[in-house]
Amino acid sequence: MSTLPSDQNASGRDLGTDELALLKSVIESGTLTSTKGETVKNLELEFAQMLGSPHAVACSSGSAAVHIAVAALDLEPGDEVITTPVTDMGALAPILFQGLIPVFADTDPATLNVTAETIAARITARTRAIIVTHLFGCPADMGPIMDLAARHGLPVIEDAAQAFLAESQGAMVGTVGAIGCFSFQQGKHMTSGEGGIVVTADPALARRMRLFVNKAWGYGDPAPDHYFLALNYRLTELQGAVALAQLRKLPSAVKRRRAMAERLTSRISGLDGLELPSAPDGGDHSYWRYPLWVDPAAIEGGVDYLAGALRELDIPAAPRYIQKPAFETEVFRDQNTFGSSSWPFTLAAPEAVDYSPARFPGTYAGLDRVLVLPFNEGFTESHVDYIADGFRKAVEAQ
Ligand SMILES: *Cc1c(COP(=O)(O)O)cnc(C)c1O
Repeated sequence: MSTLPSDQNASGRDLGTDELALLKSVIESGTLTSTKGETVKNLELEFAQMLGSPHAVACSSGSAAVHIAVAALDLEPGDEVITTPVTDMGALAPILFQGLIPVFADTDPATLNVTAETIAARITARTRAIIVTHLFGCPADMGPIMDLAARHGLPVIEDAAQAFLAESQGAMVGTVGAIGCFSFQQGKHMTSGEGGIVVTADPALARRMRLFVNKAWGYGDPAPDHYFLALNYRLTELQGAVALAQLRKLPSAVKRRRAMAERLTSRISGLDGLELPSAPDGGDHSYWRYPLWVDPAAIEGGVDYLAGALRELDIPAAPRYIQKPAFETEVFRDQNTFGSSSWPFTLAAPEAVDYSPARFPGTYAGLDRVLVLPFNEGFTESHVDYIADGFRKAVEAQ
């Protein structure tokens, strides 16, 4: 057993003749922009179809997807958007760029996802939207979250960048809230290097999102203009070709991830001190990663010991996933935004930017215990069995 397949190169990515064929026809067409080509349009149609969502709009990254989603709500500067402190910075920076205040909800230590309870604790008179991130491919418990949002009249944006084809109560994640966001970055379930897409059932939001990707230029309108402040967030036809080929493989890629994750779960479920990943009732995990939670009372040295022991066996397990909650990064700690202005933090109510650790017990407890194993469609039964043996050795050796 040498090294495990990596999603950073061909060993853990399913890229080949299908991508090359579509790419070749795009290049031969001479049309590389999605404003004139058909490939990105086809990607949008097929993505929407696969998710069972009426509209999809492709864009240049997952960060762009979140920006488009937030911008589509057309909120006022200083409005509050509730989100999670355990996520990619690309999901948070767009909130600030729109002049809005990210308000961090605590997370469930058992999943590191936000819950209806942790969101409810942050709702104020200035809350205008909720972003729910399905971390590691595990669907957040959407039923109670959607009930809460409906009671307060708040739109929900789902960040499904890590959760392609995960399900919550029979619905694909990304289609439960008002808008779903996805990323095609190198390490996601499907990739075009960089790229992203948003989905919605609401035609007005779909139109606003398409405009936001296109400098708010009204392509196809009788009297087009630049209607409002927006950027160029388009995906190229080149990226669209790769993404379209990847999309067609996505169901089988997710199926393989699930089969291998279930195999790993069954192989290590007998070991003491490990809490293994599972979706909430009525949900289906899509295993972007394989996260597990280590009880330091049962395994001496906890995640640090286990990660070290696994690394000796060439199993690159990451303790703590991200090293700290997002609000401890310099962007939030020092409010490094536009020049020395600290804007839009200057508009925030004190409690909206109160990052005292005591307000985030679940997040700290979850991050202290989580161990994140890499996972991708290159994993075979022998890779999984090697990891399971590694766990057994590590647990028995302590
Ligand atoms: C990857 C990711 C993003 C950002 O996507 P990029 O394509 O890297 O900009 C946003 N949110 C989550 C949860 C992610 O995992």
